[in-house]
Amino acid sequence: MATLQQNYQNFMQNLAQAAAKAGRPSESVRLVAVSKTFPAADIRTLYAAGQRDFGENYVQEWQDKAESLADLPDIVWHIIGDVQSNKTKAVAERAHWVHTVGRLKTAQRLSAQRPSAMPPLQVCIEVNITGEAARHGVAPEEAVDLAAAAAKLPNLQVRGLMCVAEAGADEAALVKQFGKMRVLLAGLNAAGVAADVLSMGMSGDWEVAVDCGASHVRIGSAVFGRRDYGR
Ligand SMILES: *Cc1c(COP(=O)(O)O)cnc(C)c1O
Repeated sequence: MATLQQNYQNFMQNLAQAAAKAGRPSESVRLVAVSKTFPAADIRTLYAAGQRDFGENYVQEWQDKAESLADLPDIVWHIIGDVQSNKTKAVAERAHWVHTVGRLKTAQRLSAQRPSAMPPLQVCIEVNITGEAARHGVAPEEAVDLAAAAAKLPNLQVRGLMCVAEAGADEAALVKQFGKMRVLLAGLNAAGVAADVLSMGMSGDWEVAVDCGASHVRIGSAVFGRRDYGR
């Protein structure tokens, strides 16, 4: 069985190759290692191997891990799950990034609760790119307005857009979804919000996302192995 460190190094190689194939410098795509359900010890292992950006979905689980990893000086925490109103304070006080801002109210709470001594919270607007009713995120046609409104808040920096593509979609459908995100990001910049981040691509679809301009891929199982939610 491959060790976690080997998995990580293999993935980083694959990521660099995919970037090169897309004609992009490898530094233009960052890995956010999605550590939900995996123990703090695994995060420590990847940190020792050079990884700094980690993504977590569940605020309580993340807080416990962040506490036990507080000695890692330059770890970067990305919140990639839905942030309920009663969790915005904990997130604002400790996270570096939130990829999943889908409503102005969430952005307002995060900005109000961000300690002013900390650098601005880096945020992405989550776009419901498939339009399925059960999904989080703002409708594509409302994304630019939400981003522009959030960009006016004092303690946030709007960095760009995030999406979760349709699970199991074929390559053509993925290209369409990721391509729409790219167009929306251009729209954001045209509206005066300088934004450079496209957070898109997961274990099953990251290569297409890199081809379509992803700046951040969020990878869990392809690095950490299969998730066991019963853990
Ligand atoms: C869990 C999760 C990921 C990582 O999923 P994998 O398929 O394991 O790579 C990425 N993004 C979000 C929003 C997630 O919830």
